[in-house]
Amino acid sequence: MKIYLDNAATTQVAEEVFNEMKPYFKEKYGNASSLHNYGQEAAKALENSRRIIADKLKAQTEEIIFTSGGTESNNLAILGVAYNFKNKGNHIITTKFEHPSVLETCKALEKEGFSITYLNLNKEGLVNLEELRNSIINKTILVSIMHANNEIGVIQDLKEIYKICKEKNISLHTDAVQSFCKTEVNSDMADLISISAHKIHGPKGIGALYIKKGVKIKKLFHGGKHEFNIRPGTENVAGAVGFAKASLLIKDEDIKRMTKLRNKLINNILKIGDTWLNGSRERLCNNVNISFKYIEGESIMMKLNEKGIAVSTGSACATKELKPSHVLLAIGLKPEDAHGSIRITLSKYTTEKEINYLIKELPSVIKELREMSPYKEEKNDV
Ligand SMILES: *Cc1c(COP(=O)(O)O)cnc(C)c1O
Repeated sequence: MKIYLDNAATTQVAEEVFNEMKPYFKEKYGNASSLHNYGQEAAKALENSRRIIADKLKAQTEEIIFTSGGTESNNLAILGVAYNFKNKGNHIITTKFEHPSVLETCKALEKEGFSITYLNLNKEGLVNLEELRNSIINKTILVSIMHANNEIGVIQDLKEIYKICKEKNISLHTDAVQSFCKTEVNSDMADLISISAHKIHGPKGIGALYIKKGVKIKKLFHGGKHEFNIRPGTENVAGAVGFAKASLLIKDEDIKRMTKLRNKLINNILKIGDTWLNGSRERLCNNVNISFKYIEGESIMMKLNEKGIAVSTGSACATKELKPSHVLLAIGLKPEDAHGSIRITLSKYTTEKEINYLIKELPSVIKELREMSPYKEEKNDV
């Protein structure tokens, strides 16, 4: 058995996406800036892809900037607004459990003299709207709050958050990399929205930033007038074509099916004692994040890996460091409990058979690890 359940880290490129992209490597390889037919063919494909992504976000084509992915989109949004508005103010509000591409960008800005407020999350993983409102000062130039969290799948109420930002006339950026195509994401929800292709069965290395008309940002790179003079460099035409195709593939019934399988998984794993679900039950259709007392998530992950099942402990970037997940700490877990968690993320290709196999294998893995656990003296019977 080979079962991939780490779809929040990345996904398989869909067959339809791969086929759609192929011609743009071999026959239609023109530079979209060239004026001959090769170039114009590429430019047409690029603009068609932009139209598709714009429609998906209920946006206009001029509001979509293709980037190299979620990380670049987050950097471009936050640094772009910060540098453009630094004469107006130097205060930015974000949360304690953002993706590193937001948190570390904010940390870098702190070194340049910006002041950052990191909002707390409650146990469910939600921002307190009153705390947000009270954090806004006259020097605040940006609020950046992720839509769905990549580790625990919790979805913020962006409509309410955006209302507060609009009242105070402050731009709202959201990292919607995990939520895009899994739940509604559109231009009514924020001024700047980051999305990425490889989390939705598109290729790696392409993403986009939605920038609402009238919101000014400073460009970060120089050397061309591509992407409305905001993001220079020869466009990744094949990537954009693949991204657009991927955004059209996920259907409501896929989301319903994933939700059902996810619930089955949660309900069965929670039957193993001394376990709990991290984050609100109301979450992304494909996310399960569970803590197991007395044992380490890394050991569970390795044992499952031996059985051919790929899951994750926290986010992919954090796993090399063996530090407890900043997301789980932010929602109030003790470090030792944060260590004992795994993240299981489904895709539209995940089958019931795969979920059943995991449900069958997991209890013995947990039992075996708990029997070896140095903490077992403290517990009565497991
Ligand atoms: C994956 C991810 C990113 C980074 O996107 P890349 O395209 O891999 O750079 C940013 N934010 C969230 C929430 C993610 O899950």
